[in-house]
Amino acid sequence: MIKDPRVMHLLEFSKKIHPRDLFPVRYEQAAILIEKDPFAFALAAVLDRGRKAEVIWTIPYYLQKHTGDLNPYFFASKSIEELEGIFRSLPEKPRYITDAPRTAKELSEIVVNEYNGDVTKIWENKSASHVKKTFQCIYGVGSGIASMIILLLERCFRVHFNDVDRRYMDVKPDVHIIRVFYRLGFISERNTKEALEAAQRFNPEYPGALDAPAWVIGRKWCTPFGPKCQSCPLDEVCPK
Ligand code: SF4
Repeated sequence: MIKDPRVMHLLEFSKKIHPRDLFPVRYEQAAILIEKDPFAFALAAVLDRGRKAEVIWTIPYYLQKHTGDLNPYFFASKSIEELEGIFRSLPEKPRYITDAPRTAKELSEIVVNEYNGDVTKIWENKSASHVKKTFQCIYGVGSGIASMIILLLERCFRVHFNDVDRRYMDVKPDVHIIRVFYRLGFISERNTKEALEAAQRFNPEYPGALDAPAWVIGRKWCTPFGPKCQSCPLDEVCPK
């Protein structure tokens, strides 16, 4: 089946995306922390709810500065109330400040109690379905975040899963993806359901492949006001 040119352009652009475009941060040290410390990556990923990406991916850095050492044993040993106090003292906080401590604690407890403190054992030599299931046991982590973690592990950390049925890997529609899909003419109403269905319809063998390119384009070019169409990678195929 011949693909829609808009989809072709998105997939082509996707090949050029740098991993750092997918976890934008406030400071260079925060990016280095995410790249070098898999626990920092996992912690930010499970907290990724309703807050700007720059804040979410910088939170492990803020936590490291506050605690001195970003360590799952530390988070597992603290009470929810103690962790809430820590989160509240950060310069920028997760959106759901009363939920985030429980999410961080549950991730840390799994890492400590089931994987001897090594977060990479959650995904090393495991199937994608197992990894998704593990993350979805954590408070506040739904299917969308768990799928995003699989995609990021593959894309940015070169973890290979051979059981991923990509037909069921969806986009995780946020404001950027919905805006780009709308302006591209993929959807006629700006909502999550339409965006999910559009990705499934336009790229049925792997809907989630449209996630990263649409998200990056939405942040860099297709901004809410004054989109930079002339320099946008989709300019020649976008009906605007
Ligand atoms: S060409 Fe313009 S409207 Fe279309 S996706 Fe790019 S920035 Fe958005």
